[in-house]
Amino acid sequence: MKKNDIFTVKITDTGMDGEGIGKVGSAGADASADDFADAEGFTLFIKDAVIGDTVQARVMKAKKSYAYAKLEKVLEPSPFRITPVCAFSRQCGGCQLQVLSYDRQLEFKENKIRNNLIRLGGLTPERVDEIMEPILGMEDPWHYRNKAQFPFGTDRDGNVVTGFYAGRTHTIIPNTDCALGVPENRQVLEIILAHMKRFHISAYDEQTGKGLLRHALIRKGFQSGQLMVCLVLNGSSLPEEEILADALWQLPGMTSLSVNTNRERTNVILGKELRVVRGAGFIEDSIGGVTFRISPLSFYQVNPVQTEKLYSQALAYAGLTGKETVWDLYCGIGTISLFLAKQAGRVYGVEIVPEAIRDAWENAQINGITNAEFFVGKAEEVLPEKYEREGIRADVIVVDPPRKGCDERCLETMVKMQPERIVYVSCDPATLARDLRYLREKGYEVQKVRGCDMFPGTVHVETVCLLSKLNVRHHIEIELKRDELYLTSVKSKATYDEIKAHVLEK
Ligand code: SAH
Repeated sequence: MKKNDIFTVKITDTGMDGEGIGKVGSAGADASADDFADAEGFTLFIKDAVIGDTVQARVMKAKKSYAYAKLEKVLEPSPFRITPVCAFSRQCGGCQLQVLSYDRQLEFKENKIRNNLIRLGGLTPERVDEIMEPILGMEDPWHYRNKAQFPFGTDRDGNVVTGFYAGRTHTIIPNTDCALGVPENRQVLEIILAHMKRFHISAYDEQTGKGLLRHALIRKGFQSGQLMVCLVLNGSSLPEEEILADALWQLPGMTSLSVNTNRERTNVILGKELRVVRGAGFIEDSIGGVTFRISPLSFYQVNPVQTEKLYSQALAYAGLTGKETVWDLYCGIGTISLFLAKQAGRVYGVEIVPEAIRDAWENAQINGITNAEFFVGKAEEVLPEKYEREGIRADVIVVDPPRKGCDERCLETMVKMQPERIVYVSCDPATLARDLRYLREKGYEVQKVRGCDMFPGTVHVETVCLLSKLNVRHHIEIELKRDELYLTSVKSKATYDEIKAHVLEK
């Protein structure tokens, strides 16, 4: 098999990144391939091909037993293939699953969770079937995002453009009307583009590190209708900021305009410096009756409809009665903490971004919640310190880490604290499964798992998981059986209490 060979294959599976997977030879003899015999059984990974399609694909990169191929033609479309809503669905790096029917997207995501739990988490397929609850999908899986970050650049004719990066590149596809975002994005971007044209403001150029406007971050409170715009600059101010603010304030809901300075040559979008141009510097929104203040630098879940379902599930798994001490690690602006606070005795939140913790305190106050406390710092540093130095305990620990999962020090302390239950909220099933394996080895067992589709159209999936501490008595019984031989020979006359002491010691 070599580059530019063309094969006809039937797509039988979906890869981790949403690509179609098919085996050479699966669609019968293939006259178009010149060395078909050599290639038989080769697995092709084909971006944009959908499970159930029969496609013609061109090999781009061949390896020993598999190859990456480009979709040339759909010969027989899959019954699960749908017409894309967005004209840019193939070029854009955002939606990998847009042409797959929503039911099938949900199935793909459940399988992704399931496979990770088995391969990396060490759970048996039977156990996964037993504990997995049906994924929480959306009724209308479009225009769900409350946040978007649009990069700015310059096209070949020298015009400033904004849109989305093409898959795996930093080439901007001009498009101000993303099907996942709110309609206001387009209005905001058109105003910014017109302002740049009028005052000859340049877009940032990643190659040279020159140019001013890098990104526009837009956030909308779905409940409050408030709009926030934050411009990321390779500099400290934008020409005629007040005129831009006047134009933006024509839009209903416009609440906050700020500029963020990022002079680094990096892919990280936001810098640390923030200055409010007009308005409050934050917006408010509410989820499940709790109101949240959100600053530009703070993390806030992007899909509010699904977030309410996710948090409700986390609350159900936490099994609170009103007395419990709860830790919410990686708490952001305190969303989960405050969602749980009403039904807990005391809640402690830990988060690394200081602005988010400021928002969290403010949010507790806005909602009249007095039993929540927040700490700035790394979960893996704050938790051991609070536990080892101050002896703070936990009945329930909730974690909601970024994609890389929990630091092992954090997991280690969680286990030492011996909470009754751990609720793990995760945006990456692979790191979730890795961490679950650790917790399972240390005396916790996964009792329930549920997917929540926070990101329709994409390959990403959120998972919420309940673990509980294994019954100590159950533990002792197993140990006794294992030690039977040893016990009968050495300690044949031991009393039950002596045996128990021995087992506990071991
Ligand atoms: N639970 C929140 C936020 C989840 S996102 C919500 O649902 O809104 C993960 C959060 O973890 C982010 O706010 C990020 O800033 C924070 N974070 C990343 N690394 C961290 C660490 N080592 N310790 C504590 N917080 C961290």
